[in-house]
Amino acid sequence: MKPLKDPLSGFSAKMKIAPSENIGNSDTGTGTIEKTRNKEDEPWRDALLCRQCMSFITRESSRTTVNGAHVHMFANPHGIVFEIGCFQNAAGCANSGPPSGEFSWFPPNSWQAVICASCLAHMGWRFLSPRQTVFFGLILDRLVSPGP
Ligand SMILES: [Zn+2]
Repeated sequence: MKPLKDPLSGFSAKMKIAPSENIGNSDTGTGTIEKTRNKEDEPWRDALLCRQCMSFITRESSRTTVNGAHVHMFANPHGIVFEIGCFQNAAGCANSGPPSGEFSWFPPNSWQAVICASCLAHMGWRFLSPRQTVFFGLILDRLVSPGP
């Protein structure tokens, strides 16, 4: 009979995980809970989908900050206010229209509208810096997490 436990370590490494990490605190919002999820077990838990057609757009792990913040509020020249989140990439988006440097919300970055590659809904904007680095500003209420 082989011993079930590793004779070198003496006890299972799984016991090192504190059970309280998984329970979380319901008052602290969802951000910390999402970070403790095992992305290998639940790859779709990390995904953000187009609200209109439920196609994959980007991932929670692609969230980034620009000018010190992830979420930015802007109004377009027509007075429509958008709440956008900054993402390092958005594989489910397609470019729409030519790049422009006018009225940029993140000067000196130029911008280009992006749409859902599946249903063509407007998802936000792709910003290109003079150094050719890219980030996406996506309209947050057009993204959804795949619910249970
Ligand atoms: Zn879509």
